[in-house]
Amino acid sequence: MKAVVVRAAGDYAVEELTIDPPKEGELKIRMKAAGICHTDLSLIDGRLPLPLPCVVGHEGAGVVEEVGEGVTRFAVGDHVVLSYIPACGHCNSCHNHRPHLCSSGQPTGKMLDNTARVHRDGEDLNVMQFLGCMAEYAVIPQTSAVRIDKDIPFDRAALVGCAVMTGVGAAINTAKLEPGSSVVVFGCGGIGLSIIQGARLAGANQIIAIDLADNKLEMARNFGATHTINSTEDSPPEKILELTGEGADYAFEAVGVPALMQQAHQVIRRGGTVVIVGISALTDEVSFNALNLAMSAKTIKGCIYGDANPPVDFPRLLDLYKAGKLNLDDMVTRTYSIDESPQAFEDLKNNANARGVIVFP
Ligand SMILES: [Zn+2]
Ligand SMILES: [Zn+2]
Repeated sequence: MKAVVVRAAGDYAVEELTIDPPKEGELKIRMKAAGICHTDLSLIDGRLPLPLPCVVGHEGAGVVEEVGEGVTRFAVGDHVVLSYIPACGHCNSCHNHRPHLCSSGQPTGKMLDNTARVHRDGEDLNVMQFLGCMAEYAVIPQTSAVRIDKDIPFDRAALVGCAVMTGVGAAINTAKLEPGSSVVVFGCGGIGLSIIQGARLAGANQIIAIDLADNKLEMARNFGATHTINSTEDSPPEKILELTGEGADYAFEAVGVPALMQQAHQVIRRGGTVVIVGISALTDEVSFNALNLAMSAKTIKGCIYGDANPPVDFPRLLDLYKAGKLNLDDMVTRTYSIDESPQAFEDLKNNANARGVIVFP
């Protein structure tokens, strides 16, 4: 099968690999669509420390091709969206209704039994997040799959596996936005645009989007932003104060830049909440004024995967899509073949797309 493989920081290519049949509790998926996410790029450029060589891809949808021993919840032919955190169902986090923090979900590059399914000439390859779905096939834990209706296009469905779940979930599950809230979103990539959609769905009154690129701000308005700020032209803190009076109720940082996290904390009102969604480099640190932390009574929340409970949240998001309330159609700006993946990553770096998606025939 063809797959996108990273061998060293900055060194990646489409390679021809072999893949084993699924073992107990696993599914083999024929991939139909894989979204291009900044986290894939972080793995490619060495910011995300996962063992190499590694098959990238953690946002995907496809068809169950084969089921391993003991699989009862899925059948060959099922359409599924992949979740990048397999929830075991019996750790402390799973029992506490926080499956996105499942202790079995820490990526090792291997499968849950610590062995590899993907190989090249006898060499074992790692896979990103138990998936490695930027490939024609993926063998995954059954706990990483969520069945979906067969009438949903795969390229739309795939986005629910990362960007849309993370962004809409950050607004609705993590921040629990109230109707009428004022919201600031730093960064209008796939996740930032999804936060804007989540804020719109939650009934936010003001949704202020910030980015460096005018085309991204135009997309932000299309997804529900009421105001936009190009930070190369205007100073966000001043503008936000002007728009909100005493600061926003909520700010979301969706870039992964410490200075923007500080700015997000600065632009919310006293008692407001900042949600950190952006993925920074391992070595990045951020500091806040110590006296102000107490006196401002602001809340800082970290957010991974939009506090997702995939078996509940994925179908709910896709129902919103079918009802015309969640716009996934405009999220897919462009599709690529797997051989065009270098172009897809170039376009990601150049902010060309809301989301680019690799599709498989
Ligand atoms: Zn992602
Ligand atoms: Zn668990």
